[in-house]
Amino acid sequence: MALLPIALLSLLGLAWWMGWGLLRVLVVIFIVWVAVLAFMLAAPASEIRAGMGINVELWLAGGLLLGLATVYFAIVRRLKAEAERRWGTEDAPRLDALSTPEPGAPSVETWGQVQEDALDRYARHIVLREIGGPGQAKLRGARVLLIGAGGLGAPAALYLAGAGVGQITIADPDTVSVSNLQRQIIYRTVDAGRPKGLAAAEALRALNPLVDVHALRQRVTEADVALIAQHDLVLDGSDQFADRAAINAACAQAGVPLIAGSIAQWEGQLTTYDPARGAPCMACIFPKAPAPGLAPACAEAGVVGPLPGIIGSMMALEAVKQIAGAGTGLAGQMLIFDGLYGETRRITLHRDPDCPVCSGLEPRAPDA
Ligand SMILES: [Zn+2]
Repeated sequence: MALLPIALLSLLGLAWWMGWGLLRVLVVIFIVWVAVLAFMLAAPASEIRAGMGINVELWLAGGLLLGLATVYFAIVRRLKAEAERRWGTEDAPRLDALSTPEPGAPSVETWGQVQEDALDRYARHIVLREIGGPGQAKLRGARVLLIGAGGLGAPAALYLAGAGVGQITIADPDTVSVSNLQRQIIYRTVDAGRPKGLAAAEALRALNPLVDVHALRQRVTEADVALIAQHDLVLDGSDQFADRAAINAACAQAGVPLIAGSIAQWEGQLTTYDPARGAPCMACIFPKAPAPGLAPACAEAGVVGPLPGIIGSMMALEAVKQIAGAGTGLAGQMLIFDGLYGETRRITLHRDPDCPVCSGLEPRAPDA
């Protein structure tokens, strides 16, 4: 009776059917094959062999066939990838680039952890030297709180979900209105009247089922330190000074970095507040609310549709960099974009030693 090999092959067939890659299944079969071979050689008692229903010769022949099949599929896969690269099917992921990492690139173990679907989905990230397999694994492990699913939050949410950020929480107390649709690209006309968090979460799940999305129908206040502390990073796209100041204070308390974007009319700005790691907080830069009428909200002052798309996408970019540890972030720097004249400026921000929010806080370890 050859029950053991049949049972193993059935299980592995099932694993393959459930979405494992063929090569991975073959590698697992090979490991099992070596283990059984070692067992047969180490315990040559005829009863054991008889009990398993297999003999060494048959087992060796099976292994040879398995080896040939593995080499065959590896060659076919390699040829397919090479053909795609040469004849330019733009939509096909560059699997050849994945299977031959450059020196200093992430190890084979890391690749193995990423599922086949994820490997396909994040192929363009994985080939980036600054992200790669380890960076993508960090994105998958990250928990991001997105406050405000409006003009800034909409593109930021889409890019975070697309990038594979493992857990995204969206907090927004509002419902979708038709006047939002000019710039809040995550919604459709049929969403009018629905809670924003709910509609946004639905869009994100449809975009990437691999990410875990939660919607909170609430305004985030200074009292939400515990909520913020459950996340690694906060993105603030709210548009009222009082809300932004409260979120800044809660993030400073929780020691969680805060990527804040803001927009009005044709101009946007962007920075990362992170007093726990030495960067200024919002209260260091804007200690007081602007005089009434000096910084009107978008509803009164207006905003050009693509502008929140630019700044919101930059927020997502800073988030991806921060999580993956790529490049240099905007802590202590404010990026200002003038859409009417196509100009970008960067100014250095300094921490206020007497800041009412962050001056008394304990500094944290750089990797905290
Ligand atoms: Zn401060």
